[in-house]
Amino acid sequence: MKCPNCDYYIGWGFIEDECIDPNVTFVCPKCEIKLRYYIGEGTYQGASVTEIEIVDK
Ligand SMILES: [Zn+2]
Repeated sequence: MKCPNCDYYIGWGFIEDECIDPNVTFVCPKCEIKLRYYIGEGTYQGASVTEIEIVDK
């Protein structure tokens, strides 16, 4: 996963270390913009989709 604002790579290690749950706002460690990630429904291929989005004020 990458920050949509600065392309900083945000790995699952970061998510787990910070104990960030889906749909909870967190801050990009590089550009400090507010972000949120969510896990979408599985596709027909069986893989779930994880997306990061920028949280508007
Ligand atoms: Zn960023």
